[in-house]
Amino acid sequence: MKADPSAQRQLLDLADADAVVARVDHRGRSLPEVAEIAELTTRIDSTRDDLVRADISAEDLTREYRRVDSEVTGMADRERKDSALLAGGGLAPKALSELQHELGSLARRRSVLEDDLLGVMERQEAVEAERQRASATVEHLQTQLADAEKRRDEAKATIDADREVATTRREAIAGDIPADLLAIYDRQRAAGKVGAGLLRARRCGACRMELDRGTLASIAAAAADDVVRCEECGAVLVRTNESGL
Ligand SMILES: [Zn+2]
Repeated sequence: MKADPSAQRQLLDLADADAVVARVDHRGRSLPEVAEIAELTTRIDSTRDDLVRADISAEDLTREYRRVDSEVTGMADRERKDSALLAGGGLAPKALSELQHELGSLARRRSVLEDDLLGVMERQEAVEAERQRASATVEHLQTQLADAEKRRDEAKATIDADREVATTRREAIAGDIPADLLAIYDRQRAAGKVGAGLLRARRCGACRMELDRGTLASIAAAAADDVVRCEECGAVLVRTNESGL
């Protein structure tokens, strides 16, 4: 196939423009803010789990407090009744002794329960402290997350603008290249390869492969408007004064 040498040289500009687009896309895929946001989100989720666990513990402790507290109240009521009976007098010695014995054991059990109640209150304080810590951590992380999201959005906006400039330039260059030549270039690109490379210092500018003497001789013998392809990667080998043929 044949193409005007100047059109062939434009392929180099096109390859350069495509490389710029690829770099912009790579920047878009590797934004550090994206990893930062993922990490912050994970930490927020796990701290929220801590918060939920603390809430459940707080509910359990409230129930336990009420249960122990109502037992204490029940015992205090019985102690009051027994004390009133005792104060009323006129009890038989056996009933008196039983009543005194019961009062003693009620007081001992109430004292144990009151200690339990203090223990529950201490655990409630610890759980509340944990709840406040987790809640403050979530708030702090959410501020960091909002900041990271803002930075990511700004970076994305810059990248979108850069991509717009790069693709506009790419389309302008491609629009000037003859369709059949451009088709070769685009087929290369569709296969994930570089479309064109400058032949320089015996190497293909697309794949960096060194060309052997025979190949170089046949390229040197080819007409200027012959389209020469790299045997290794298939790129259009563009010849200029720099090619040293
Ligand atoms: Zn090559």
